[in-house]
This record gives sequence, structure tokens and C-alpha cells, in this order.
Amino acid sequence: MGQMTVQIVTPHGMIYQHHAQFVMARTTEGELGILPGHTNLLAVLAVDELKVRRVDDEDHVDWVAVNGGVIEVADDTITIIADSAERARDIDVSRAERAKKRAEVALEQALSEHSIDQEQRARIALQRAINRINVGSK
Ligand code: ATP
Repeated sequence: MGQMTVQIVTPHGMIYQHHAQFVMARTTEGELGILPGHTNLLAVLAVDELKVRRVDDEDHVDWVAVNGGVIEVADDTITIIADSAERARDIDVSRAERAKKRAEVALEQALSEHSIDQEQRARIALQRAINRINVGSK
């Protein structure tokens, strides 16, 4: 069976690099399941979880909160470039809960002030916080 290399790059450097047999990501176009031999592609990622089934252990799955960015598949190498991404075990869920509350307050304020820019920022911050809570709770 073939295998792939998954690498995740953020401004903090290469935060993840492993061999995988299966990867599931969500792009702005929908869910993307990737097996070895997948067609090369470049897509925009949603703020969502990334699932990586590793090759070394059939039952070993890594979950990563990827907060937008791009995914490239090129000859069995999957590269994700994101402003931020955290592995489940590195997520501080209580910090994300606090960020969620702040984003909810900011969203309410933006809606009452009809500020579209502020509303968009608050919605993205809320999505990031919810993503971290979901992944960090796995
Ligand atoms: P906060 O308001 O809690 O800082 P944020 O959404 O503003 O959240 P970002 O600007 O997206 O945070 O990220 C800043 C840095 O902190 C990034 O390196 C990111 O990986 C890390 N980070 C953010 N939230 C968490 C968390 N809950 N657990 C672990 N690392 C986090």
C-alpha cells in the first residue's frame, strides 16, 4: 500500500510532519478525503478539523485544528499552509472557551452597530474558537 507525507506549516514553522495512509480535510468546496495516488490539487481550507490516519499504527489518528489556509496535494505529499494550526493535544480548551465568549460579545456588538467588518472578524474568531474546542475535546 502506498503512503503519503503530510506537512503543516505555520508562522511557527513546520508544526507537523508524518506519513499517512488517509487524510480528511474540509475545503471551501466541501470535504476532501485523500488516499495515496490522489490527483494533484490546490484548494482553500475551511476553519475546521483535519484528520490524519498514520501509517505506523492502523488505529492511530491525529486530529489538528486548522484555521483556514491552503492545502496542496502533489505526488503524495500533502502540504498545508495556515496562519495557525494546533494538534488536539496542544489545545488549551479553556482558553478557546474564553475566546469563544469574547467573539460572541464582539459579534453581538457588531450586529447592533451594523458594522460588517467587525461582524466578519467576530464570526471568524468564533469559528476558530469553536474549531479549537471541538478538536481539543477529542
Ligand atoms: P486568543 O484570543 O485565545 O489568543 P486567537 O484566535 O486570537 O485566540 P490566534 O491569533 O488564532 O488566537 O493564534 C495565536 C497563537 O496562539 C497561534 O500560535 C495559535 O496556534 C495559538 N493558540 C490560539 N488559541 C489557542 C488555544 N486555545 N490553544 C492552544 N494554542 C492556541
